[in-house]
Amino acid sequence: MSTTSGYLTVRGIDVDVIHKDIKNLHIGVYPPMGRVRVAAPQRLDDGQVRLAVIQRLPWIKKQREQLRAAPRQTEREMVTGESDYVWGVRRRLKVVERPGRPHIEVDGDRLVLYVPPTTSAEARRQCLDRWYREQLRHVLPDLIAQWETEMDVVVPKWTIRRIKTKWGSCNRETRHLWFNVELAKKHPDCLEYIVVHVITHYFERNHTAQFAGLMDSSLPDWRSRRDQLNAGPLANERWDERPKPK
Ligand SMILES: [Zn+2]
Repeated sequence: MSTTSGYLTVRGIDVDVIHKDIKNLHIGVYPPMGRVRVAAPQRLDDGQVRLAVIQRLPWIKKQREQLRAAPRQTEREMVTGESDYVWGVRRRLKVVERPGRPHIEVDGDRLVLYVPPTTSAEARRQCLDRWYREQLRHVLPDLIAQWETEMDVVVPKWTIRRIKTKWGSCNRETRHLWFNVELAKKHPDCLEYIVVHVITHYFERNHTAQFAGLMDSSLPDWRSRRDQLNAGPLANERWDERPKPK
């Protein structure tokens, strides 16, 4: 099966487009950020795909709203037996109650949370959140320095944020980058993909063919890294009508 892929931006929504040897166009909205992906038959051109997406915008927007309103994975009790991901590896949580400053350690395949007795679930979640941020702060300086050299740019400032809608972003005026704290749960390859992706926005604002070309030359396997980052379908819809070209 031959496939080609590209990007479209439709009414401000970034859409990944894969052309395949298939009969019907298929639109999917994927967690956790509501990424939109279209699998389109080879015969449909960009204009026809764009039209299909526009016609389905109310459905796409509804899926994204539901996705963002869904209960957060972090809304948990934070007790022994739960698990969470660290750099792409699932780890069992073990809670050890003892006096002193709360802190977290990786012990074998476990994530051990040391907290004083009576620490609330919310305080435990905050402790874990701080720990994830530390993981990112530990690896990001070297990673960013490496890509500053490779791409011949200077990154003046970067920050880590928790946000529901994006993995990272680039302010083209200030050249300030930020990264989603949730990236610490994903395989390090995914973080590197996001670093290269947001720096590539220094050169190209939108997800155009030129953007994809720049990504290809920097990080040839970026598509599989992106798919790894966004794995897992939430909502899918079959589309059995052929979009009518204008
Ligand atoms: Zn982007």
